[in-house]
Amino acid sequence: MPDMTDARNRMVDVQIARRGVRDEHVLDAMRTVPREAFVAPGYEEFAYEDGPLPIGHGQTISQPYIVALMVEAAGVRPGDRVLEIGAGSGYAAAVMGEIAAHVHAIERHEPLARMAEARIAAAGVDNVEVHVGDGTLGWPEAAPFDAIVVAAGGPSVPAALKGQLKQGGRLVIPVGEAEFGQSLRRITRTGPDSWDEEAIGAVRFVPLIGAQGWAEDGRRAASSHVPGQNSGKTLPQMVADAAEPLPDTEDPSFAPFFDRYADRRVVLLGEASHGTSQFYRARAAITRHLVETHGFTIVAVEADWPDAAAVNRFVMHQAAREFEDPAFTRFPTWMWRNTVIEGLADWLRVHNGTVADPDRRAGFYGLDIYNMRGSIAAVLDYLDEVDPEAARIARERYGCLTPWQRDPATYGRAVLSNRYRDCEDEVVAQLRDLLERRLHYEAQDGASFLDAAQNARLVRSAEQYYRVMYYGGAESWNLRDSHMFETLEHLLQARGPDAKAVVWAHNSHIGDARATEMGAVRGEHNIGQLCRERFGDDAALIGFGTHTGTVAAATDWGGDMEVKRVRPSREDSYERVCHDSGVPRFLLDMTRDEALRRRLMEQRLERFIGVIYRPETELMSHYADAALPQQFDGWVWFDETGAITPLPPDHRREGVPDTWPFGV
Ligand code: SAH
Repeated sequence: MPDMTDARNRMVDVQIARRGVRDEHVLDAMRTVPREAFVAPGYEEFAYEDGPLPIGHGQTISQPYIVALMVEAAGVRPGDRVLEIGAGSGYAAAVMGEIAAHVHAIERHEPLARMAEARIAAAGVDNVEVHVGDGTLGWPEAAPFDAIVVAAGGPSVPAALKGQLKQGGRLVIPVGEAEFGQSLRRITRTGPDSWDEEAIGAVRFVPLIGAQGWAEDGRRAASSHVPGQNSGKTLPQMVADAAEPLPDTEDPSFAPFFDRYADRRVVLLGEASHGTSQFYRARAAITRHLVETHGFTIVAVEADWPDAAAVNRFVMHQAAREFEDPAFTRFPTWMWRNTVIEGLADWLRVHNGTVADPDRRAGFYGLDIYNMRGSIAAVLDYLDEVDPEAARIARERYGCLTPWQRDPATYGRAVLSNRYRDCEDEVVAQLRDLLERRLHYEAQDGASFLDAAQNARLVRSAEQYYRVMYYGGAESWNLRDSHMFETLEHLLQARGPDAKAVVWAHNSHIGDARATEMGAVRGEHNIGQLCRERFGDDAALIGFGTHTGTVAAATDWGGDMEVKRVRPSREDSYERVCHDSGVPRFLLDMTRDEALRRRLMEQRLERFIGVIYRPETELMSHYADAALPQQFDGWVWFDETGAITPLPPDHRREGVPDTWPFGV
């Protein structure tokens, strides 16, 4: 095993000490225990990352910072007798073993307990005993304890654990209904019958399952003796019972299953990959139905604004723009140049042709920010048309970005290295000028102004995006999703107070980020979360998933599209639960069955395939922890799926109007 001392010390300094953990016993112990020995073989290099990792059986090894926080809160000292509930990988028990005199750790999954025992021994820690059992009852044989640490979240504080504390002893436990995480509590025993309780902060743990925790089916254990209809059922059986089987996506009875969302302002439709035919077809069918039957007028997708604008001109029967680059010609072209999108655009055009009032027509818009060059060109074209003097100034301002127009990803580095000044002031000034003249411009043509203003906003966001992208991480992601959300808000505003929108974007953008590692660990937000915060129940978040089949994806960024086989889903994933339900195609309404919802809240892995798919490193590249019922309001399942069909590179059609956006 490579020497990971440096990585370990860095973890303690950056992730733990800098966040405010001061207890030297804790910091020393975490500098000593080799965390890499507690992850699955092959994952050692990820052992010092700032997050939890899967350890099997749907369980995780906690984020290092959380382990430190809990051990510090429990005030574990040399000479102490300690009890841990939820040994999992055994890591936290080993850390406490380094400090205390003796640790008892209880784990309900026997294979995990055995593995933890072996790993603790291999790490050279010899004062920890691992027991298999229900930790909500404590470990009376070895009680009382100076400190008890519970690494799973219960509905309340188990009385048994309070009773097994010494006078002055500390119990640290996450408590709560687990909707958006639990509250971490410290209970200190102050006398034979008295305890103090303090809240330490918000956390998110897997459920504590046992006699004084949650029941297997997700109910509160104490009340589960009411003869429940779910007792004895496996999770896949519960899913099968609650699932509404769906017909084929082309069947007219498919889309009406989604009528329950028709009165929402925003319906967000996800996808588990950027290259799956069924996800596209399903979303197209739902979209047509929402537009035709329920008056939705905005179709906003995770595509670049200027490219989608070309489709919009086609579907809205508007005039073509001169000298325009063809739409969607940059990687990944198959996301929008495919047969389903072509068909949807045709349908929207025909539909709009039957709608006399232009305000009731449905437009097609892009939320994304990657085509900065196209946006600059569009702003300049617009101003050339309506205000040549303003166009001259805009040309000068955007000139600052010219060297990076073709490869904006290099902009951040150049600016950071101080070889170039940044262009922020210019692009902000340009947007401000344009918006200040709104009334004047809008008087000429409202739709063109909306397009130009949105392009100017995009250049502003893209400039920031590429500048911070160089640092990587949450900031650039958040900027992009904030921009997408703000674009959606501008569209809703522009299309009037009753306007309703369908949004298409990947599950990672649409599923509430607070319910996944991205939000809980990395501090990232997304459009789904922002919609929930802004619209509440007026937004519906709908995820899509699959077990296996094929997908259109590349191996590297910028690479060719390939049709790749999708590996069958992992045993510890939500996808496997759906597959095991035996229902090939279904809609699961997460809000209907409270017991199922609780049960599904037990965190599992969820698969995210983007435009890149790397089956060889699938676990690290594509799976992340999630709490599905909190992420989505509805979940659409296709057990087996196939790759999307891209349009051929030389695609042509006879007799199309000159706004038809799919030619070359
Ligand atoms: N401390 C662990 C993290 C464990 S995750 C580490 O450092 O790796 C929580 C663990 O609690 C899971 O392994 C889960 O199986 C276990 N668990 C849940 N309810 C339990 C109970 N009633 N008794 C014992 N273990 C429980």
